Amino acid sequence: MATMRVAQISRPNGPLETVERQIPDPGAGWVRIRVQACGICHSDALVKEGTYPGIQYPRVPGHEVAGVIDSVGTGVAGWQPGQRVGVGWNGGYCGHCEQCRRGELFACVTGQVTGITYDGGYAEYMLAPASAVALMPAELAPVEAAPLMCAGVTMFNALRNSGARPGDVVAVLGLGGLGHLGVQYAAKMGFRVVGIARGKDKEAFARELGASEYLDSQAKDPAAELLKLGGARVIVATVTSGDAMSAVQGGLGVNGTLLLIGAAHSMQVSPMLLLAGRRSVKGWYSGTSIDSQDTLAFSARSGVRSMNEVFPLERASEGYDRMLSGKARFRVVLTVGS
Ligand SMILES: [Zn+2]
Ligand SMILES: [Zn+2]
Repeated sequence: MATMRVAQISRPNGPLETVERQIPDPGAGWVRIRVQACGICHSDALVKEGTYPGIQYPRVPGHEVAGVIDSVGTGVAGWQPGQRVGVGWNGGYCGHCEQCRRGELFACVTGQVTGITYDGGYAEYMLAPASAVALMPAELAPVEAAPLMCAGVTMFNALRNSGARPGDVVAVLGLGGLGHLGVQYAAKMGFRVVGIARGKDKEAFARELGASEYLDSQAKDPAAELLKLGGARVIVATVTSGDAMSAVQGGLGVNGTLLLIGAAHSMQVSPMLLLAGRRSVKGWYSGTSIDSQDTLAFSARSGVRSMNEVFPLERASEGYDRMLSGKARFRVVLTVGS
């Protein structure tokens, strides 16, 4: 029986250990993917630390997967061996629960999450439901596509559904893994992009990515500066600090939206500010496989790319620690095989 290497977690707070396993066969409705690259996302800490409810061990993390379909289970329509594909956070949907029937596939009651409710991409092979699979365009190398399957689709899909129109002021709070992609997408979508981060040193970088303005939140009040530009139609908050999120809400224009994609625990919101200008604060879920497919296609055509630090699968533990340190510029990606 052929075997594969995977990097798994055996218990909450256990180490990432490389082990050999049998290569699994896809059941009905599932495909097998030969993994070429897998991004390491901060949400992988849910597996490492055991904080995701009901998680079962051992578990192989990884929901930023890029690879090639190499086997297809029975009853799978539209997918064949040899196709280049990606799999993201959304681990597929049933198609018949009430949420799916209303078109809200992301909220499917099955709640499948790649690398959490089933084994993910820190591996030479993985299985995925056909509904979780996105086509990867030929122009994108696997290592380029992988981080777009979570960080990329989250930014792209949040922006394209934000209500902002070309020419509107769109601010991106935070210029890390999510934010450096957000500035690029927002610029390519035709918004007037304002990058907000701490320190003067990030200004040149923000402008290179496509920001037309830059606000150093340590030197000036970002909310007041946004109002000088007429107020933001949308502020996308990629940071994980609730205080930093709260500090920018005053920069929203009339009907403006503060769109939260950073996983902060809490923040202060001013109801007066919201109701007086019909402003809103809302969250955004990354997206389903077709959103990921749109993200990859848009990125391939427009030149949006993630800046990555690359580690081989054997050094998954080191790569994970690098991600967790917050010092990576900007996403960490595992490469698999030769
Ligand atoms: Zn993620
Ligand atoms: Zn469903």
